[in-house]
Amino acid sequence: MARCSSCIKSKRTTGAASYLKAKLSASVPKEVRHARLAICRACTATDPTGVRLFRERKGRMYCGTPRLKKILRDETKEGCGCDLEDKADKVGAQCPLYLWKRAELI
Ligand code: SF4
Repeated sequence: MARCSSCIKSKRTTGAASYLKAKLSASVPKEVRHARLAICRACTATDPTGVRLFRERKGRMYCGTPRLKKILRDETKEGCGCDLEDKADKVGAQCPLYLWKRAELI
């Protein structure tokens, strides 16, 4: 089910439970992973300071400030902090803004 930005619940969390659930899940098909990463590269969502959530750092792609640099966060505003290449590979992972829904239709 697609969600609009006004229905996405906003709360501060460590994201540990959802991170572990995703990490332990199976891999998605290669095409879904590529489609998810294409959505991230084109993502124009920004954090409250106006900085784009999608960012590249030391050759890796992240959604917001990398998780270990900011533990407690509101993922709907600041991004999840995940390494996107790892996250995009997991069935149990989801974009905090539900922008990956298009990729699930492949
Ligand atoms: S996970 Fe979602 S919010 Fe984060 S960069 Fe990718 S598309 Fe944007």
